[in-house]
Amino acid sequence: MDIKTIGVVGAGQMGSGIAQVAATNGFQVVINDVKQDLLDRGLNTIRNNLDRMVQKERITQKQKEETLSRIRGTLKLKEMADVEFIIEAATENEQIKLAIFRDLDGICRPEVILATNTSSIPITRIASATRRPELVIGMHFMNPVPVMRLVEIIRGLATSEETFQITKELATKMGKSPVEANDYPGFISNRILMPMINEAIFALYHGVGTAEAIDQVMKLGMNHPMGPLELADLIGLDTCLAIMNTLYQGFGDPKYRPCPLLKKYVDAGYLGRKTGKGFYTYEKK
Ligand code: NAD
Repeated sequence: MDIKTIGVVGAGQMGSGIAQVAATNGFQVVINDVKQDLLDRGLNTIRNNLDRMVQKERITQKQKEETLSRIRGTLKLKEMADVEFIIEAATENEQIKLAIFRDLDGICRPEVILATNTSSIPITRIASATRRPELVIGMHFMNPVPVMRLVEIIRGLATSEETFQITKELATKMGKSPVEANDYPGFISNRILMPMINEAIFALYHGVGTAEAIDQVMKLGMNHPMGPLELADLIGLDTCLAIMNTLYQGFGDPKYRPCPLLKKYVDAGYLGRKTGKGFYTYEKK
């Protein structure tokens, strides 16, 4: 299948990264969010990233302009009517995603594949909000999308083989390396990563070490490029909490209970880099 136009729903850190990578690889992109300032923030992130790539001489000014000209922002989900493939990257909230998929099912042409970048919500459940569950699939990019090579591809119970093959091929055309995972809470990546991050937050909560000490141990001792608390701040503490809740509810196993300190930070609006404060403090952009 020759896909040329991709619709991206959600212009946050993941949606903007996915739009950037798709446009860089020659796809036309329509990107949507619920408010103009959020859409503008996403588009500005893409512009700034491309500017940095020009400065580092990784792309030319002309390539930057061509990439930007392939991206169109909109507040109207209805403008997804003509796209050939959807990647949904809205907030990690089941009710929000179910509503988006219900709407997309009515808006998009019947043969269009609806992929979700969810970190942990079951693909089968998201697919059940549509009348095309065979065309719904998980396409889980890593953060930051322009840098990280992996895309986890997750079939729902009803996802067809054709949908899987087309999605895998698209991930490859976007310059990524697809790896298949089954549809269980957290898939492979967050089944392993998020309990480690949650445990690091418990270590902080119990006073085993400072945030800096915990991160240093994992970086110097385990050769992790980032410490778990730095990584939690990058991912977004709201997203980390949502993933832990999905693991906890999905498996019904107390080993996945989110740390009370993580809940407290999210209640306080300390969401990590995106709000300027999480386990560390960041300069507001
Ligand atoms: P984010 O908070 O940066 O962005 C989410 C965006 O979705 C916001 O701009 C929000 O306004 C928008 N949104 C909310 N409801 C919407 C709707 N109805 N229609 C359109 N847009 C809507 O979050 P993010 O980190 O970009 O995460 C997005 C998705 O990607 C989540 O499902 C998350 O689990 C997943 N994900 C995140 C990471 C990560 O490291 N942050 C990694 C892989 C996957």
